[in-house]
Amino acid sequence: MARARRSPSKKARRSGPTTKPFCSIPARPVPNLAPHVMANSLRAEAIIRTRLKWVNGTVIHYCFFGGSSRYAVPKKQADAIRGAFRKWKAVGIGLEFQEVDQLSEAEVRIGYSTADGESASSVGREVLSVPVNQPTTVYGWDLTTPYGSGTALHELGHVLGMEHEHQNPFAGILWHEQAVYDSLAKPPNSWDRATTYHNILEKLSTQQVQGSKWDPDSIMEYEFEPGLIDIPEKYDINGLTPPGTLSNADRRWARQWYPPLKARLTKLQPFEAAAADLAAGQQIDFAINPTESRKYTVETKGASDTLLTLFEDIKGKPRFLAGDDDSGEDRNASVTYKLFKERSYIVRLRLYYPGQSGKTSVMYS
Ligand SMILES: [Zn+2]
Repeated sequence: MARARRSPSKKARRSGPTTKPFCSIPARPVPNLAPHVMANSLRAEAIIRTRLKWVNGTVIHYCFFGGSSRYAVPKKQADAIRGAFRKWKAVGIGLEFQEVDQLSEAEVRIGYSTADGESASSVGREVLSVPVNQPTTVYGWDLTTPYGSGTALHELGHVLGMEHEHQNPFAGILWHEQAVYDSLAKPPNSWDRATTYHNILEKLSTQQVQGSKWDPDSIMEYEFEPGLIDIPEKYDINGLTPPGTLSNADRRWARQWYPPLKARLTKLQPFEAAAADLAAGQQIDFAINPTESRKYTVETKGASDTLLTLFEDIKGKPRFLAGDDDSGEDRNASVTYKLFKERSYIVRLRLYYPGQSGKTSVMYS
């Protein structure tokens, strides 16, 4: 009975906005971790939450498809995407975005195709496993409209490691499921049931979201017409129209994972362990200035789960050299690399989970 009352009036349905084209990326699968790791829910949660995030301080190189490619990005669309990168950077994050003109030099390869009509992106470090001749991020509609400028920001939110907000299990959204399937089956989306399920109805696991609250204003929230959301009731009647800009919670999220970088880094001395006692998700950075040119090994000590990375600092721009991710593996992260005298290197260590002792250290030798 209560449900019937919540059904939208026909009038609300007719007068509401029409369905917009939606970004199409399904909820990410929860990774396969060893049974004893999954049994430790704090540890598993920390690993799942952190695994797609970039190491803070990474320079993310991006490149637009061009020429005769089916993904060629017209200039005014590329400009809209450049503007979206600037907006994310203006939040005050430690990631850098640098445009390059060769696809093979770019972690993030951006395509545009109104013929495909799909916008989608790999999430965070997932982009690294996309074959180099393929886009990691595609846009399928005009980005120069107000709705399109939200899409430009939204796909870059995925690049930073964000997932869809309407799939936040804390959202408490109850759907008119058949109405959602029916609406999405129509153009412009024309989705089959499975696509609609995985993109909208399926909830993320609680480990995959940040915090414990739903943010309806998030750039990662879709716009929904009236009649699709059963509860909360106000969205049933009015539809849900996020502002299409970065919300305060989006900004907090970005600064939490990618805080501004410290100007000065602690120097690692060979054969001397440096403490890295971090909380889950936090990162510490060290400088290495080798006194001789040879192969070195940088490694962690302690029972923590970490992502250890090595960059060369080339005129103030860190270039990724190597990394090792020991999360969920009960071993220590270790990187062996030839370093050169008089060059500068940066070690960045992101902690997934501190382990029982809470003690982690880094050493190079
Ligand atoms: Zn999306």
